Amino acid sequence: MDHIKLPLKVLVPLVLLVAAGLSAYIALTRETARADRELNQSALTDMRRDMAHFQEEVEYLLRRGDVARIAQQLATLGADEHVTGAYLTDDWGKIIASMRVGDTGVWAASVMAETDPEEAAQRTAVVGRVLDTLAGEVRLSTIRDSVYGLYPVRMADSEDVLHPDRIGLLFIENSLADRRAAAYHLIQRHVTTSSALLVGLAFCLWLFFHYALGRRVAGVMEATNRFAAGDLSARTSVRGGDEIGRVASAFNDMAGQISDNREQLAESEERVLLLLNSAAEAIFGMDRAGLCTFVNPACARLLGYENVNDLLGRDIHGLIHHSHADGTPYPEEECHLQQALQNGGEVHIDCEVLWRADGTCFPAEYWSHPILRRGENVGSVVTFIDITERRKAEDALQRAHDNLEVRVRERTRDMVLANRQLKDEIAERKRVEAALIEAKEEAEIANQAKSEFLSRMSHELRTPMNAILGFSQILDSDPTEPLSNSQKESVAEILSAGYHLLELINEVLDLSRIDAGQLPINLEAVPISEAVDQALAQVGTLARKNGVTLNDHSAVMHHVAVRADRKRLAQVLVNLLSNGVKYNRAGGAVSMSCSEPLEGFLRIEVADTGCGISKDQQSRLFQPFTRLTDDRSTVSGTGIGLTVTKRLVELMDGRIGFSSVPGEGSRFYVDLPRADGVEGVDVAASSTVSPRKTAPRAATLPEPVAHDARTVLYIEDNSANVALVRRILAHRSDIHMLSATDAGSGLSVAREEKPDVVLMDIHLPDMDGFELLSRLRAAEETAGTPVLAFSGDSLPQDVERGLKAGFFRYLTKPADIRTLLSAIDDAMPKA
Ligand code: ADP
Repeated sequence: MDHIKLPLKVLVPLVLLVAAGLSAYIALTRETARADRELNQSALTDMRRDMAHFQEEVEYLLRRGDVARIAQQLATLGADEHVTGAYLTDDWGKIIASMRVGDTGVWAASVMAETDPEEAAQRTAVVGRVLDTLAGEVRLSTIRDSVYGLYPVRMADSEDVLHPDRIGLLFIENSLADRRAAAYHLIQRHVTTSSALLVGLAFCLWLFFHYALGRRVAGVMEATNRFAAGDLSARTSVRGGDEIGRVASAFNDMAGQISDNREQLAESEERVLLLLNSAAEAIFGMDRAGLCTFVNPACARLLGYENVNDLLGRDIHGLIHHSHADGTPYPEEECHLQQALQNGGEVHIDCEVLWRADGTCFPAEYWSHPILRRGENVGSVVTFIDITERRKAEDALQRAHDNLEVRVRERTRDMVLANRQLKDEIAERKRVEAALIEAKEEAEIANQAKSEFLSRMSHELRTPMNAILGFSQILDSDPTEPLSNSQKESVAEILSAGYHLLELINEVLDLSRIDAGQLPINLEAVPISEAVDQALAQVGTLARKNGVTLNDHSAVMHHVAVRADRKRLAQVLVNLLSNGVKYNRAGGAVSMSCSEPLEGFLRIEVADTGCGISKDQQSRLFQPFTRLTDDRSTVSGTGIGLTVTKRLVELMDGRIGFSSVPGEGSRFYVDLPRADGVEGVDVAASSTVSPRKTAPRAATLPEPVAHDARTVLYIEDNSANVALVRRILAHRSDIHMLSATDAGSGLSVAREEKPDVVLMDIHLPDMDGFELLSRLRAAEETAGTPVLAFSGDSLPQDVERGLKAGFFRYLTKPADIRTLLSAIDDAMPKA
């Protein structure tokens, strides 16, 4: 359709006109042919019918010999204007009757010859055939303007007899010209009407195109032309829902879009220009020939040109990239930039130089990217920066790196040496450590040996002490053999010295156990009231004896508790109180008070009005076996009470301190952690602590208890102790004592005599006391006999072990006579 130049408003009606013409021509041709066919057909049919009718009638009239009538009838026929010929010939071919009177007696052949020769020949042939076949024929003339019929007619020989051999011919011809002309006329009129309608339609179309399409299209075109001419605001006012309306709307949309795009493009170009102009990096573009197509101010500045125009259109390689840094030429075919330009590839180089306008060069790092237009490589854009400063920094860095490497090597060497020394030192330290561990193990073994020695010594000392103190008590208190006054004094000295010795043994043992870490500490909440009351009670006798008043100012804190070992706290307070009493004056006082000096700690303070401690003595106060006061010869003491006290306080996470003014008195205090949430502890539930430093009350032998004579078997290898217990039990007429000096004989006596109670030492010559106990339990006779242990092994764990093993009670030597007797009484089976 592109080559058609005519406007639609002309083209479409024209096409319609041509179509109308063609259609009229085709209709005319086709209708004419059809009319011809139909006319010929009806003419032939009509002629056959008429000929058959005339043939019969003519033969009838011939039989009657009425030729005139025939002529008459032919004349009547000829009156019809369409009938152009009608005659009858005899068997000779002469016309005997005709529609035209003049033809009668004329040879039919001559009449026939008057026509067109071709027609005449055809008719002659038809005559021949009719005469041969005696069958009539109806035919159209050669030019089809008439139809004629030739039928044979038998001539009559005589009246009413037809002669079969004499055949005449009946000829009738009708003209078709008028009928054909009328049919043609009808067809022409019809075709003309149709064509006129089509022409009218074409005109209407033209009008439609002109007004409905042409003007609106012109409106769109006018806007399009304006837009094409650069008027981006051009829009068409054509509207409508048809194609042109939609085209107009699409145009307006497209124009709007293009305007927007153009604006965005302008903005984008502006931005790109701004970027190019403001970029610190140099940027330039090259076409495929290597000529500069654009350049930014930074590029011109870095290359030493005043204006970007000095670079535009110039051969970039020849201008800025022609030589290497050393001045040797840099051929274009080797140039990476040019290769990338030709290949359409990218390149990044930072080891080349670019040349300035003044002939100097600088190291540059550049990137090249191809410029593609519709997929075709049309050049490249190159960005570069001057890396002179970076190179300097890199060189400096490299130098620093080299220096560093040298230093690292030196340092590594030093470190290897140091490492070697360290390894030697570690090996040495390991050797020392091993030696230390060995020494520690040896020390531990020695410590263990020391502990065992002390324990053994304690046992060994306690056994004779038991006899000394026991017999002294008996002497002192036996009403049957009263002593003289001087004897009583001597016995009192023995008892005093014995208890002093016992105290010394106990304290030395405590100290050694603390040193060996073997002193068990059971920390619990101990109410202040309980600790203070017990300590005061235990020192009461000594205070009365020394004429010293005991004051308790701790009541305000009685409701709180400290976290401590109940038994050891009592030991600490008794020690401080007894010192306060001992190193006091007659009529003096010792006061206990309580305070909370620090958050979470409680302080129990013991203040006395004694002699005090001088400054130079104070530093030695807690050293073992150090006695400071001058009256140490008259005041009993061991010199290790405070040492043990300090260690015990520290074991209970506390601290001890003091202040003293010579001649005025001393103030000792103990700070212990406060036990939170234990206020209101039941004081009555606390246990009692046996006194250490104070001698037991003077024993008087208890009155015998009224029992039937019971038997006590005492198994003991130490004869003094056996004699002691025998003397003690001698006052009990209700108790009969048996004794054995070793376990074997003890076991036999027990089985034979079945004593009520067995009292035994633990260290027997032939058997351990625990073993003996289990044998007694195993023997039927003694299985239920209560067994009391009576041993010099006085450590708490010894007592605990004994009770666990099944001893009824575990008594330690030296024993108080009353304690021993009450234990025996408790063990006696009730009658
Ligand atoms: P001791 O068995 O001699 O009392 P301690 O260890 O308890 O042993 O005391 C050591 C020494 O410290 C005492 O011998 C005494 O000289 C001195 N000392 C202790 N408490 C007081 C005190 N309250 N007033 C004066 N001197 C004291």
